[in-house]
Amino acid sequence: MLAPAWLSAPGIAKIVSRAAGATLAAAPCRQAPLGPTPHREVPVALRIIIGLALTAVAAAVAGRRLWWLYRLAMTGQPAPERIEALREHPGAGAQTQVTEVLGQRKLLKWTVPGVAHFLVFWGFIVLFLTIIEAYGDLFSTTFAIPGIGTWAWIGFGEDLFAVAVLAGIAAFTVIRLRSDPRREGRKSRFAGSHTGAAWLVLLGIFLVVATLLLYRGAQINTGDFPYPRGAFASQVVGHWLHPLGRGANSGIETAFVLAQLAVILGFGVFVTYSKHLHIAIAPLNVLFSRRPDSLRALQPMRSNGKVLDFEEADPDTDIFGIGKVEDLSWKGMLDLATCTECGRCQSQCPAWATGKPLSPKMLILDLRDHAFAKAPYLLADSDAARDRLPQAVKDEAERPLVGDSASHGVIDPDVLWSCTNCGACVEECPVDIEHIDHITGMRRHQVLIESAFPAEASSMLKNLENKGDPWGMGESRRLEWTQGLDFEVPVVDGPIGDDVEYLFWVGCAGALEDRARKATRAIAQLLHTAGVSFAVLGPAEACTGDPARRMGNEFVYSMLAQQNIETLNGASARKIVASCPHCFNTIANEYPQLGGNYEVVHHTQLLARLVADGRLTPVTPVQEKITYHDPCFLGRHNRVFTAPREIMEQVPGVQSQEMHRCKERGFCCGAGGARMWMEERIGKRINTERIEEALSTDPDTISTGCPYCLVMLGDAVSAKKASGEAKESLEVVDVAQLLARSVQPPPGPPAASGGPASGGPASGGPASGGPDQPELTPAGPES
Ligand code: SF4
Ligand code: SF4
Repeated sequence: MLAPAWLSAPGIAKIVSRAAGATLAAAPCRQAPLGPTPHREVPVALRIIIGLALTAVAAAVAGRRLWWLYRLAMTGQPAPERIEALREHPGAGAQTQVTEVLGQRKLLKWTVPGVAHFLVFWGFIVLFLTIIEAYGDLFSTTFAIPGIGTWAWIGFGEDLFAVAVLAGIAAFTVIRLRSDPRREGRKSRFAGSHTGAAWLVLLGIFLVVATLLLYRGAQINTGDFPYPRGAFASQVVGHWLHPLGRGANSGIETAFVLAQLAVILGFGVFVTYSKHLHIAIAPLNVLFSRRPDSLRALQPMRSNGKVLDFEEADPDTDIFGIGKVEDLSWKGMLDLATCTECGRCQSQCPAWATGKPLSPKMLILDLRDHAFAKAPYLLADSDAARDRLPQAVKDEAERPLVGDSASHGVIDPDVLWSCTNCGACVEECPVDIEHIDHITGMRRHQVLIESAFPAEASSMLKNLENKGDPWGMGESRRLEWTQGLDFEVPVVDGPIGDDVEYLFWVGCAGALEDRARKATRAIAQLLHTAGVSFAVLGPAEACTGDPARRMGNEFVYSMLAQQNIETLNGASARKIVASCPHCFNTIANEYPQLGGNYEVVHHTQLLARLVADGRLTPVTPVQEKITYHDPCFLGRHNRVFTAPREIMEQVPGVQSQEMHRCKERGFCCGAGGARMWMEERIGKRINTERIEEALSTDPDTISTGCPYCLVMLGDAVSAKKASGEAKESLEVVDVAQLLARSVQPPPGPPAASGGPASGGPASGGPASGGPDQPELTPAGPES
């Protein structure tokens, strides 16, 4: 049978091209309306009654649910800082609404699902007009939105976005089928998501558009359609329905106006009970999220909305971290309700990728499920009301927030302690959920109140408290790295003079770990060669407190941070160059919370500038293929992506090769979040996974800009060499070492290192460490 002319591709193309404007003003493209109908199948009064009754029921059910959700969120702790931040920076809040919500910036980082979501999101915004029209049609079959309701461009836009929504959900269907967790298992980002609800949502969206086009098509045939031209998709449906005759079209029009409202209202109710709640609350969550994002600094501990002062804090009355779900702030609760279960965070999590039980998505979902199940308990207004609750609710209320399966815990300790704080989840989350803050909150409670944390990390904490460094080597060894340098490194003793430009913050690893010491020496040598005046704190430098803080021991962190701030302020430090991204992050972003405000740069930023200014000139070729590993706390947390790459570009002979996962999507080495001092017993080692990716580029050298990464990647390379999977010559080096190899010292006497600081130079005496010193390595079987 031949297809009718209007169904042929040229026919549809003609309709679309007309609709698109070529002939919008000149030629109506719809078929003639059918003849008059003697009576309507459903009187207008009945349409009104049914439509409004459906609306009232849906509004009541959805409203009740939203009120319940609001009250549940309010059982969380106050978060005055979120309101304050918005009040202080309303422009930033508005900007994120434009970029994140309306512009869908984060979603569009994933091209196909991003575009599909963009189409559906904007489709629903434009289709608000059709909802107005559907309500208007209840009252008058010839309703048109006053002023614009007969403009062909409006009809065209509505149909265009209706089709765009269909295209979007078709793409989502394919994506879901291709990533079916039943087939793909852990590899699927939907593993652990409520997939049944997701399919229902896709069906719901399809029905919204299908009922819309059906009633609009029928309206064209009954002569009730307000748009004379432009609504191309409705035209196509109208052609399909035309042969059914006037009576049937009139019935279809009424039935599908009501069906359209019923589907939209049903969808609206379903949204409030499902993950699609994000449609309503994601803009709010984005509005109250930390700006520019919840990476970089951890936030101070708060109890009842106030920053906790350890001098006065009382564990009996104050909240120490997150020990119960209601210890989350209302913003934390909002996070739980906003999760769309998209699994983008899960797909980027190094812990999940290497077979560990931590999935940032499932952590949020487990907390959410627990909060919802415990809600009647939290919302009960008296002990008597709580007593009357079903036993299942009381049991839920009794569950420990962190506990193993034997104790029926909500979050397993192995989940909690697997996190490296790499920030990939926060980076990816399209609705700005703050995973690291929640993980840190729970760790804080476990460490400070329960004293429950991986045993092997306890010696690190003790060393920090007693010796000021994680290895317990003590301050006397902090200058050993200077031995063998052919210039003196000034050591601060009193206020730094104006003749010293930078305080070089060496960091514990840089000062005490053998492999990192090589990088420290290279940085010092380069600064000296460039004539940059600098000094170090030497024995007065203590750990920044990063490992303690990331582990949850805010007490030890505060102690170390205050001590360092006192030292830095006493030295009148202004400009600091830090070699360790963890130190860099802590001093630049966390010390201001305690009154320590300094201008901090990472050594790769300073070296890149020196190269650009011609103060360092790489001349000796390094004929190697090099792949750069982005340290999480330098790259993702602090957006330093280009400086190390610029340095590599300037070294003649270097052939750079990016790994698949790089820059914002860089893959962790496994050391952050204090994981450096914990055993990695579950799954594959994260550093092994990373090195396998590096090896796939067949490098001669792997470069990085972090002492933790040097250690972790170095360990993995050693293991690969031992198993014959990596060539013996393969090295892991800091970018500074690479640059130092290429920069020839200027002729003549060495440039001044900036003159003496107020203290004397570091002793060049005999090495108490040196090449034969045992290598310091993180815990773990490969170390
Ligand atoms: S910070 Fe990194 S390791 Fe931790 S949950 Fe997020 S992605 Fe996973
Ligand atoms: S936490 Fe964010 S990224 Fe992860 S599943 Fe939920 S919405 Fe998606």
